[in-house]
Amino acid sequence: MEKMRLGKTDMMVSSIGFGGIPIQRLSEDEAVKVVQRCIDLGITFLDTANGYTTSEERIGKAIKGRREGVVIATKSGARDRKGVEEHLKLSLKRLGVDYIDLYQFHGVSKAEHLKMVLEEDGPLAAAEAAQKAGVIKHIGITSHSMDIAKEAVKTDRFETLMFPFNFITSEPAKELIPLCREHDVGFIAMKPLAGGMLDNIPVAFKYLLWFPDILPLVGIEKAYEIEEIVRLVEGPQKMNAAEEGEMKRLIDELGTRFCRRCDYCQPCTVDIPISLVMTSRSFLKRMPPERFFGGMVDDAMDKAAGCVDCGECEERCPYDLPIREMIAEHVAWFQEEKKKYGEQVKA
Ligand code: SF4
Ligand code: SF4
Repeated sequence: MEKMRLGKTDMMVSSIGFGGIPIQRLSEDEAVKVVQRCIDLGITFLDTANGYTTSEERIGKAIKGRREGVVIATKSGARDRKGVEEHLKLSLKRLGVDYIDLYQFHGVSKAEHLKMVLEEDGPLAAAEAAQKAGVIKHIGITSHSMDIAKEAVKTDRFETLMFPFNFITSEPAKELIPLCREHDVGFIAMKPLAGGMLDNIPVAFKYLLWFPDILPLVGIEKAYEIEEIVRLVEGPQKMNAAEEGEMKRLIDELGTRFCRRCDYCQPCTVDIPISLVMTSRSFLKRMPPERFFGGMVDDAMDKAAGCVDCGECEERCPYDLPIREMIAEHVAWFQEEKKKYGEQVKA
């Protein structure tokens, strides 16, 4: 597979990377096999996170004896020095490695969180100390907020930025990707399939291939899925007329009624995690059902059912989404799915 330079890290990585969220759903044996298949197909960039339950450990097992051939990226969502130091220690242990190629601050989407990361003697200082000691090679950041991502890039303290990017969440193409180029920050595209909203893989990837200097992360759980994507990346990359037509159709269909997870609608009057509720369908495809129906999505849906209809969130949404209507649709969908799951468990 072709390699690309990941911004100022100067690391040469495969032109697509592996995203370690979906392997949490598999058995350990299946997960290890999927990761190994990806490496066999030439994927050298493997991304995971401290918060992805079993993912680091499984990737660690898959790379045993092959460490030198891969680039390991992981993340910490901690917002203080001690927390980052603890997460780093845990990641090294779970991955079974003595250094991490790219250490990222996870989900920095609020101004106060960026401030905490940058604080003197805070998380970034901890990562930089580990970098000096050779335990971390490079430092990056991940975000869902356009403004915070731009601010982070402009600090010149991060070597990579991970941000959602696909043809229906294409806003980064206008200013954020050019800004990353200007600062030589490697752009890693998360959600190439819009978190499961796009199921036309050829169209989704051919769009991303228009940007040869970005690294799309592919979250897959079946070997045949990655084989299809690798064939696409290595094959003729031009979109044909039918594919372009399909892309336009999907943009029209989803583009106006699709949550971008920017969180500008917050704070909700009754603390509903609006973006989580609005994108919950994609989690069902990626999370073990017992976690989906019993964990934070369940809690979020309970809160969502208590929406007081104040409408304040809609005034703040830059995409003019009918948030109340969409929340009600998602709550009804979730309750239906939960009922079906309950019946399956009983049977
Ligand atoms: S309309 Fe509902 S979701 Fe929106 S801010 Fe009010 S309570 Fe929260
Ligand atoms: S509902 Fe609107 S403001 Fe809220 S996260 Fe989604 S796109 Fe952003």
